[in-house]
Amino acid sequence: MKQKRIIIIGGGIVGSTAAFYLSQDPEMHVTLIDEGRGNATRAAAGIICPWLSQRRNKTWYHLVDRGAAFYLELMQDLQKAGMPQLPYKQTGTLVFKKKDSLLEKLATMAQERRNQSPMIGQLEVLKGQKLREQVPPLVTDQGAVLTHGGGRVDGGQLLDQLQGLFQQQGGQLLKGKAQLLANQQVQVGADLYDYDEIILAAGAWLPGLLTPLGYEVDIAPQKGQLLELETTFDTDTWPGCMLHGEIDILPFEGGKLVIGATHENDQGYDLSLDRKQIQQMKDIATSFIPDLAQCEISQTRVGTRAYTSDFLPFYGRLSQQPAILVASGLGSSGLTCGPFIGWQLAQSILGQKTGFDATPYSPDAYITVR
Ligand SMILES: Cc1cc2nc3c(=O)[nH]c(=O)nc-3n(C[C@H](O)[C@H](O)[C@H](O)COP(=O)(O)OP(=O)(O)OC[C@H]3O[C@@H](n4cnc5c(N)ncnc54)[C@H](O)[C@@H]3O)c2cc1C
Repeated sequence: MKQKRIIIIGGGIVGSTAAFYLSQDPEMHVTLIDEGRGNATRAAAGIICPWLSQRRNKTWYHLVDRGAAFYLELMQDLQKAGMPQLPYKQTGTLVFKKKDSLLEKLATMAQERRNQSPMIGQLEVLKGQKLREQVPPLVTDQGAVLTHGGGRVDGGQLLDQLQGLFQQQGGQLLKGKAQLLANQQVQVGADLYDYDEIILAAGAWLPGLLTPLGYEVDIAPQKGQLLELETTFDTDTWPGCMLHGEIDILPFEGGKLVIGATHENDQGYDLSLDRKQIQQMKDIATSFIPDLAQCEISQTRVGTRAYTSDFLPFYGRLSQQPAILVASGLGSSGLTCGPFIGWQLAQSILGQKTGFDATPYSPDAYITVR
């Protein structure tokens, strides 16, 4: 049996999910190439709760809603493939508002959205003691909407599991920087690799692959920083907390809290740490949970998100070169929609229908010939 040669460039959430699904088919010979620098997926906070966003763009919402729901399928597939400990959990999400009127408005919007998005689950408006039943050390006058369907995922653990299973299923993982050549070939160092079809899942670095071939790519980098605190709290069942502005407090097992993140549009691909911004985010979190003042910062992370000029992700085949599939521009909700996008790209190569209309996310509007 002649196998189809598939190359995937980029081992973030999109590329690793596609690699996992493609390598389940014995007719596919799959090589995943990853440079491993600045990967947004490993830097991400891990909130999977798109439903209470104020963003009104329906095309975006449709994708992230399906993306959040896809986590349940992905976890089942990981379990079937032999993963005993899953990196995703639905522990709920609290979205805080400073004013009661805004809280009511948010609750009404969430109720309406639940008709189309049953995964939102039970909804409650909580204040005071009721809030402290969810997060005991919380001290705030603000109220919050609790959506029981909100989830959290450890992006690094998810990548390790997907890539581990990919290799067990016969996939080849190469570390290194790939360069796309014109004649259906990829170069990594001195080695050349031929492909029948290729997925470019290089996140914010997609222009670096396509510009040398004469394409213009509508992608800009955005720097994101966050911090981790090790606490003595029993955080296992705490819901995630989305505070006003950009700061979230996301609890994980064993007392770990992830706090972030910044959205910096003027820093290019810089991955250096800005301690002032880290301290500012810790101070905001401490204004909600004063006990955090005593906690040392145990880790910091910096990553680069990819953005398009209209803030929508794109993915699919390039109509100019249908053997090339791309995905990028996932922005700050890429952990939410990334697995669903990776799965769809894999289905496209496998010749399977997905039942999801991906035409609004076509790459053709974002990747043009110069
Ligand atoms: C601080 C931070 C917090 C975030 N929090 C959340 C959150 O809570 N919820 C949410 O939904 N989203 C969140 N996001 C967004 C999300 O992480 C990203 O949108 C998503 O991970 C992007 O995935 P990706 O696979 O497209 O790209 P990436 O994860 O960036 O992966 C791309 C990979 O391609 C590799 N690569 C690039 N060029 C080459 C090449 N030439 N050769 C080989 N390899 C190459 C890179 O090294 C990288 O590993 C956050 C992002 C950041 C930075």
